[in-house]
Amino acid sequence: MSSSAYQSPWMNDDVRMFRTTVRQFIEKELVPQQARWREQRGPDAAAWSAAGRAGILLPDVPEEYGGGGGSFAHEAVVLEELAQAGVHFGSAIQSTVAHYILAYGSEEQKRRWLPLMARGERVAAIAMSEPGAGSDLQAIKTSARRDAGHYVISGSKTFITNGSRANLVCLAVKTDARVAGMRGISLVLVETDELSGYRVGRPLEKVGMHAQDTCELFFDEVRVPLGNLLGSAEGKGFPQMMEQLPYERLSIGVGAVAMAEQAVAITTRYVKGRSVFGKPLIDMQNTRFKLAECKTRAHIARVFLDSCIERYIAGRLDETSTAMAKYWLTETQCSIVDECLQLHGGYGYMAEYPIARMWTDSRVQRIYAGTNEIMKELIAWSL
Ligand SMILES: Cc1cc2nc3c(=O)[nH]c(=O)nc-3n(C[C@H](O)[C@H](O)[C@H](O)COP(=O)(O)OP(=O)(O)OC[C@H]3O[C@@H](n4cnc5c(N)ncnc54)[C@H](O)[C@@H]3O)c2cc1C
Repeated sequence: MSSSAYQSPWMNDDVRMFRTTVRQFIEKELVPQQARWREQRGPDAAAWSAAGRAGILLPDVPEEYGGGGGSFAHEAVVLEELAQAGVHFGSAIQSTVAHYILAYGSEEQKRRWLPLMARGERVAAIAMSEPGAGSDLQAIKTSARRDAGHYVISGSKTFITNGSRANLVCLAVKTDARVAGMRGISLVLVETDELSGYRVGRPLEKVGMHAQDTCELFFDEVRVPLGNLLGSAEGKGFPQMMEQLPYERLSIGVGAVAMAEQAVAITTRYVKGRSVFGKPLIDMQNTRFKLAECKTRAHIARVFLDSCIERYIAGRLDETSTAMAKYWLTETQCSIVDECLQLHGGYGYMAEYPIARMWTDSRVQRIYAGTNEIMKELIAWSL
């Protein structure tokens, strides 16, 4: 069986049909907007409600909360289709926050927020990182003190995906400044529409992923009802993040493999069409060997990813494997995309060529949701 005949073991007719819907939606509604989104440094508000209507948001959240009622296979299909189309749309963050609410929210919180998120009427962000606390999340300083049935929140967050559109922010705060480290951290859901003391900075200038909005968020004595705490008690935020980060990390792995496969596909087409020294570029042995190496590594990545997806769906994916997936799949993605750019020559460095955007867009995959160095620490704990 050739690698092109390989079928992901988690694929079935239902997921295949869902893929068709997702692909059509992305091609018709999102791809034509990409140049403008890049220009304005973020997606349109209308894209969120359109995605909600198309059933693209929260595909792996139960139907009783407005989701698609599918499994992570459905979420994976959305991530793959977005990556293959070169579209940056923060639906993965929407799903990530939904899974925090599903896992730790009260029944009332689930019914209040999840249907709105599934319809794209609420856009979610997850705000952990601060100027002084990225890898070392225990060092966060944003504080939440109790006052008359509310938390009063002060501090700032940085690098927040969906930051400018988000009106539901899952915020990591220190609810108990007296205890050091992880024990004083809680997660609070902040509804930001017309919220006094809340401010969004202008989109941060990144080297890639220009169509994705990434912002700083500022909280100046912002009042949020105590009932917006996630979980039954304060101080559980750190273990909640550690439990849920694997979902985000696996999602990143899915996008990494889909982009690597796409890079090989578009580069194969390119080298067949480009002539050098009087013959197609693919006739050079170096070109064939480089692409053979890339295709092999993309396929190995795919098989490992599929095993992780299967185990995740079965509730058996361990933290070590998730860290391996995030680390190795994103390193492999970056190295394949880099090789493929090289085969495009100077055109590969031109922003109008998809391979150039893949190169700038992929770099951050090794940094966010826990850097790959932190992933290696997590893997090393299992030694
Ligand atoms: C485009 C983008 C989107 C993002 N989206 C979000 C978001 O939506 N929400 C959010 O909360 N955050 C988000 N982030 C933040 C991201 O998660 C952090 O940037 C990341 O966790 C690293 O933190 P840092 O930038 O503070 O780097 P630092 O923690 O300062 O790390 C600097 C370097 O030191 C290394 N290092 C740190 N600790 C160790 C260690 N123990 N051992 C070895 N090496 C170490 C790191 O690996 C890195 O190479 C985003 C970032 C970017 C760039």
